[in-house]
Amino acid sequence: MQSDFNQLLDNVIGPRLIFHVMECYICGYDEIYYQHPDTQEQIGHACEGCNYVKTFSFQNEHSS
Ligand SMILES: [Zn+2]
Repeated sequence: MQSDFNQLLDNVIGPRLIFHVMECYICGYDEIYYQHPDTQEQIGHACEGCNYVKTFSFQNEHSS
């Protein structure tokens, strides 16, 4: 089944690739770092065990 967590990732982070996976220091589950498919910038991280999703904010996107 499609988890609510994936839905949350879609809503908060959007298009993403897995950049790095490490053990969450809080719950021991997988904490996943994501990068943008095009820019390769790190865009956020998430832990399904903690139901935690956070984006990194970058201020270098100057599109005119
Ligand atoms: Zn966790």
